[in-house]
Amino acid sequence: MATTVENQVAAGAKVLQSYLGGKWQAGAEQGAPLMNPTTGDIVARASSKGLDLRAALAYSRNVGGPELRKLSYAQRAGLLGKIADTLAARRDDWFEIARKNSGNTKADAAIDVDGSIGTLKYFAKIGGKLGEAHMLRDGSPMRLAKDPNFQGLHVGVPLDGVAVHINAFNFPAWGLWEKAAVSLLAGVPVFSKPATATAWLAQEMVGAVIDAGVLPAGALSILCGSPNDLLDHLQLGDVVAFTGSADTGEGVRQHANVRRQNIRVNIEADSLNAALLGPDAQPGSAEFNFFVREVVREMISKTGQKCTAIRRVLVPAGQAEAAVEAIAAGLRAIVVGDPANAMVSMGPVVHMAQRKSVEEGITKLRTQADVVYTPENFAPLDADLARGAFVPPTLLRVRDGANVELIHEVEVFGPVATVVPYRDPQDAFALARRGRGSLTASVFSSDIAFLAEAGAALGTTHGRIMLIDPSIGDSHTGHGIVLPSCMHGGPGHAGGGEELGGLHGLWFYHQRVAMQGAGTTLSELAGRAADPRAE
Ligand code: NAP
Repeated sequence: MATTVENQVAAGAKVLQSYLGGKWQAGAEQGAPLMNPTTGDIVARASSKGLDLRAALAYSRNVGGPELRKLSYAQRAGLLGKIADTLAARRDDWFEIARKNSGNTKADAAIDVDGSIGTLKYFAKIGGKLGEAHMLRDGSPMRLAKDPNFQGLHVGVPLDGVAVHINAFNFPAWGLWEKAAVSLLAGVPVFSKPATATAWLAQEMVGAVIDAGVLPAGALSILCGSPNDLLDHLQLGDVVAFTGSADTGEGVRQHANVRRQNIRVNIEADSLNAALLGPDAQPGSAEFNFFVREVVREMISKTGQKCTAIRRVLVPAGQAEAAVEAIAAGLRAIVVGDPANAMVSMGPVVHMAQRKSVEEGITKLRTQADVVYTPENFAPLDADLARGAFVPPTLLRVRDGANVELIHEVEVFGPVATVVPYRDPQDAFALARRGRGSLTASVFSSDIAFLAEAGAALGTTHGRIMLIDPSIGDSHTGHGIVLPSCMHGGPGHAGGGEELGGLHGLWFYHQRVAMQGAGTTLSELAGRAADPRAE
């Protein structure tokens, strides 16, 4: 995508343009720096100053929307498959950018990049099953009155606005495509706003898809840099899908225009996720070992910068010592450093400000918890600690989880978790619920009745719960991995959102209408609509 990569402001530093109104546009200043978190070098800059966002949104709405909705669900699903193929052809480039701008190891980049391609392919497949329809139906016509001919049917009509997707820094690729896949399948044009710190990958990917000519004009736009007055120009039919911190999410929800116009908003925010070791688990047992492995994996995966990462490690009080020792042993084997070195298992956090935030978070937690593991003489491999945003993996422990607040409230967005002993199952469930609404919890036990009890007890405060007995210890996809077929989102603190969940996710981009009329009319309507539950 020559238009964006040629424009250098310094050796190796690109100016990221935005793709708005069907053309690449530059902001009116050099803009904010994007860093290589391993070296501290500037790799790109992004600015949205002076861009006409009202006109850009109108173009998406008035050109992209009608073009997309001329197509059937199956045709739009076909477009998703083509996007996936376009992205898959440049996988190595995406890994390189993820390393340079996000400090990702190959394993970290795979979660983001392969996760995107997999999600697009999944929606291409299940979307194809909706066939040539142009709207959805929920169930079948039902009788509404004494006269059996007066009937009702719920249908979903694709929204005729634009989908504004605001994403967090930690998943520049997946955040973009998991939202875009569902929105494009629904027939609603995408206006993506990546987090500035890591916008390079999102911008290059959008560039590749635009260059491939896969999508109709106006179907995909990207705004690089600050959101400026973006939300001021939203109107009926538009939606906002936001992923980021709870504070920013609250600001989006409370934005005057969003409130005034009742703009539909989905919020995916931060979360104090828990992993729970069952009371039956003895040190050395299969469930104990699977639990410890998962806690270590979650702490270091993407350097702990996953909204779904395990922050609170709930263990029976009698096993707390053994759990700490086993997790610390796992962490001791982690090599932190430049992700270009294949020996490295954990890279830096995204930039120096994030490193400072993690360090401050640890200091805060230490007022109520003890550090039980952090490497001695921490020195990242092939990197300078003074210039790189490196943080050591850090395990803390509280003596009494019920009488401390911070571990249930402060999300330290880095390789940090706290062991919390519990007395009995009711105590464990109460502690997990102290997160005041979380994205995910996982429970490890060989006792199937306990797993079922835990699922029911945690259900009201969690969006996703993994119930792991040893039979699936090696085959599950991971506590922190979001699957396109399962719902993503959690209540309360986690934002109260719902994304993905297979075709269920389409409803966010449709107006649900209760149609009432004669049986023949409703049968005619039902015949034109696809039932997403008939997958
Ligand atoms: P953030 O600071 O809240 O920013 C998120 C996005 O909001 C960025 O694109 C940001 O743009 C934009 N933004 C900032 N101010 C805005 C405003 N006034 N109006 C509209 N948009 C605005 O979050 P982050 O630091 O990028 O990401 C880390 C957080 O995201 C963590 O707390 C993590 O738990 C959470 N997260 C949640 C999920 C989930 O699915 N639940 C997934 C990933 C991350 P700029 O970058 O240009 O400021």
